[in-house]
Amino acid sequence: MEHLLLLKGADIFSPAPLGLLDILVAGGKIIAVGPSLEMQVGGGIELELIDCAGLKAVPGLIDGHVHVAGAGGEGGPATRTPEVTLSQLLAGGITTVIGCLGTDGYTRSPLSVLMKVKALRAEGVSSWMLTGAYQVPPPTITGDVGRDLALIEEVIGVGEVAISDHRASFMDTGALIDLASKARVGGMLGGKAGIVQLHMGDAENPLRPIHDAVEASMIPLSQFMPTHMNRNAWIFEAAKEFGRKGGRIDLTASSYPYFSDVEIKPSIAVRELLAAEVPLDRITLSSDGNGSLPGFDDRGNLVRLDIGQPSSIYTVMVDMVVQEDMAMESALSVVTRNPARTYRLPGKGEIGLGYDADIVLVDEEWQITHLLARGRFLVKAGVGKKGTFEP
Ligand SMILES: [Zn+2]
Repeated sequence: MEHLLLLKGADIFSPAPLGLLDILVAGGKIIAVGPSLEMQVGGGIELELIDCAGLKAVPGLIDGHVHVAGAGGEGGPATRTPEVTLSQLLAGGITTVIGCLGTDGYTRSPLSVLMKVKALRAEGVSSWMLTGAYQVPPPTITGDVGRDLALIEEVIGVGEVAISDHRASFMDTGALIDLASKARVGGMLGGKAGIVQLHMGDAENPLRPIHDAVEASMIPLSQFMPTHMNRNAWIFEAAKEFGRKGGRIDLTASSYPYFSDVEIKPSIAVRELLAAEVPLDRITLSSDGNGSLPGFDDRGNLVRLDIGQPSSIYTVMVDMVVQEDMAMESALSVVTRNPARTYRLPGKGEIGLGYDADIVLVDEEWQITHLLARGRFLVKAGVGKKGTFEP
């Protein structure tokens, strides 16, 4: 039986504010947005109505950096983090997730990220991945970054490759150009953006390797996406200039307040970047979900351990609106429209005609009451679906 879904009278942020309108969903897509949509149905077509009075409708969030198949391990084997669960994503209103490997490119593999991406799709969310890991040369699926991008639908970029960090491979400019060139050309062949996502560490002058690679090649600055740009005061200062010059800036949500002694609070970081005249469309926010958060004492002993949560991007989005007094459109853009355009995810990141029906309904207390992913309810009346092995 055909199934139509009509969301009545939601306060819609596309992320632009559209006001109180109805949304009609069929076949996983938004097929109409307008005032007082009335439906006459028959002939075996079923219409489901949801009264959205008092609810905001926002696009499903897109998290561009989650260690979906687990990560960590930097404090020894007992500190390896587990795979992400469906519930962890739904808690953050996330309907699209981009998986990456991380520090351990030696015992973990992009193959397990690829399989986890397929599992998340089967559980109902949209998912893609970055090939590679911290290390260079990067571990891949087919033996080459460019070939992974050209041939494997789920692979949309390479990352997170570490630079300016004590755990990085310290590639020279030529190696970074080589990596970006493979991502760019492989991306072209596969019809993808081929983004090079770079884990930024604590080195001085951390963005220098990117500038050197751009100056010595014809690769555009926008091919690169440095992440963790709020990890310390000096990289955040450099990020402002980088963003004004056309660079992309990805901020990390889940490590704050864990590292609040050194990090810039992500909601404040977005506001300050805008105040520094960085264009909004250059800024994205990702969670670093399921990354490990190890704390070491002065002697290098592990003294505390936590795990990053994907839902942190939702918390930060709310903080932007409630604490930083930012407009909903700006706060939402960094977790919806901007990552959709940056990673070139068609049908994602907006509420509008022809877009995927990835919609989150939120009440006045910012509680997620409903979540639709490609037209299917994964959260309904506050109750979320569970992943395969979740209790
Ligand atoms: Zn990282």
